[in-house]
Amino acid sequence: MLRIDSLRKAPNAELQLPGSKSITNRALIIASLAEGTTSLSRALFAEDTLAMIDCLKSFGISIEANQPMETIDVTGTNGKLDAPQDSLWVRQSGTTARFILPISALITAPIQVDGDAQIRSRPQEDLLRALNQLGVEVAYSGEPSHLPLTLNGSNLKVKDIKISGDTSSQYLSALLLVSPCLPQKITFTLEGNAVSLPYIDMTIEMMRSFGAIVEIDEPNTFTVHPTGYTGRDYEIETDASTASYFFAAAAVSQGRVVIDGIGENSIQGDIGFINILEQMGAKVTIGADSIEVSGQNQLKGIEVSMRELSDTAPTLAAIAPYCSGTVRVTDIGFIKNKESDRVSAVVTEMKKLGIDARAEEDGFVIEPGMPIGNVIHSYDDHRIAMAFTVLGLLAEGVVIDDANCVAKTCPEFYEHIDTLRLEGDEELAILAIDGPAGSGKSSLAKLLAQELQLEYLDTGAMYRSVAAEVIAANIDPEAYREVTQITDNIDISFNGQEVFVNAKNLTKQIRSPEVNSIVSYVAANPGVRAILRRAQRSWARQRGGGVLEGRDIGSVVFPKAKLKVYVTATPEERAHRRSLESGRDMKEILNEIQERDEIDSSRTDSPLSVSSNAIVVDTTDKTLSEVANEVLRNFNV
Ligand code: C5P
Repeated sequence: MLRIDSLRKAPNAELQLPGSKSITNRALIIASLAEGTTSLSRALFAEDTLAMIDCLKSFGISIEANQPMETIDVTGTNGKLDAPQDSLWVRQSGTTARFILPISALITAPIQVDGDAQIRSRPQEDLLRALNQLGVEVAYSGEPSHLPLTLNGSNLKVKDIKISGDTSSQYLSALLLVSPCLPQKITFTLEGNAVSLPYIDMTIEMMRSFGAIVEIDEPNTFTVHPTGYTGRDYEIETDASTASYFFAAAAVSQGRVVIDGIGENSIQGDIGFINILEQMGAKVTIGADSIEVSGQNQLKGIEVSMRELSDTAPTLAAIAPYCSGTVRVTDIGFIKNKESDRVSAVVTEMKKLGIDARAEEDGFVIEPGMPIGNVIHSYDDHRIAMAFTVLGLLAEGVVIDDANCVAKTCPEFYEHIDTLRLEGDEELAILAIDGPAGSGKSSLAKLLAQELQLEYLDTGAMYRSVAAEVIAANIDPEAYREVTQITDNIDISFNGQEVFVNAKNLTKQIRSPEVNSIVSYVAANPGVRAILRRAQRSWARQRGGGVLEGRDIGSVVFPKAKLKVYVTATPEERAHRRSLESGRDMKEILNEIQERDEIDSSRTDSPLSVSSNAIVVDTTDKTLSEVANEVLRNFNV
């Protein structure tokens, strides 16, 4: 359950969002089939792309992924793949399932493909029929035309293929992607009233970037020559579908958002969402490598076909109640086959919020209204969770029942949403106290919280709690993913001086020498910091303020805090104080805190530093009450 804190003020933010899922997964397939190496930058690290990486590794492909740097290096195979030993697992990823299936045409051994329940229920029939026409044998272990299945391309016969495009454009994209590695040229004809055509343009554009020759003879006829691909360095655009939530939030709140890494030459169809916002009254400025959207007045209603950009239909739904007129979305009947039945999901959840919404044969209609608070069911669908989060920014009491599903395409979604709230933080009564280990921050923060009748949060105890869990789970403190995962599943609560971690009282353990020795390594992990930062912000926003103590409160967590204090003292004085408290040897403590300060100050994410407009207080020769009085004078001006 995630309660969505509403915006206190219109946002004004410049965001670096992750790379496009659609481009990352296409690039991974192409790079794997290419001759030579490919280095991808701004690659997306999310459930769907990790699913693709795992599947491709099963074909013996060497893939080096560096998550903090957002790069992936792939050693291409020139289309010569090993047969996987085990069944491939596509998790919940539609693009992975569809793009992997035609790879069977390049292998003379059976391959098995399976995935989560949600993907098992999604249709693959048109794609499998096309593969069958190419001589690939298909055997189903469950329901016909659905995963799990086994494919065998031993008897490949290249011939021209007609394929229907009215369920998903991914079928044709999947076939096109492997085609340059087939032994002869091949022609595809797209039949029916095709959906999501911009994704086919994206596929062809990317294939050509890697040296493929694709001819478009008539509007729906595509001929691919057997040239193979050539590896290269390739920069992935920011994800336009993910960006849609932030553009929508800016437009509806009369705020401003700038998204970098996507611009006028974008190959993503979902970029068209900004044109819809513009028609509704928002101001849109498109640059070479960034897009700015700002809301001017209340948005107008609209009637619009979203056939070409249907992933953003729930985004438009999210802001529809706040428009001055009716919003009608047409031509998207096919989105009932996405991660959820998105038409029905949107309408059902809108009604729960007291909004007049109804489904139509090929879309939905939403009338203006003021949403009331309620629990929104996400249907395990990232786009439903993300869209209703945007709605919740302007309503009171919206809760998303399973917000973790955003990890499918944007694990840091809520961290980015949080930056939209930073502008409103200057209206909170926040006292930020930072400083190195043993500088006297804790005693000062507790005293000031009492004086100011605000609540107190020891953020160091949160990092220590993660460290204690890392020790208990016997995990390497520097293992990025595992430690981030522990943080994601941790529930930290405070009761006076006591700290509870997943309902266990760990007050003593989190101060142990073992925790002291690893906590700074754990705290240098950007994944851990993102999760705890969000919890810290939400804690203070729900209380209207508070006294927060740590290393990055003034610099990163609350850059708009009412007052920022940086507390310091000489290392000897700090070690002396800790030695008096604990009875431990002063030299040992001096070494420990100097080592911790060094790691805390040199990490890349939120290093310990004096924030620009903080007051600096050296406590070496001062009493606690002298320091407290100095801070109070500054806070109360
Ligand atoms: O304040 P305390 O000494 O309990 O903090 C323990 C450790 O947690 C610090 O050395 C630092 O590595 C980390 N920390 C942090 N950011 C905060 C608070 C603590 O990185 N805001």
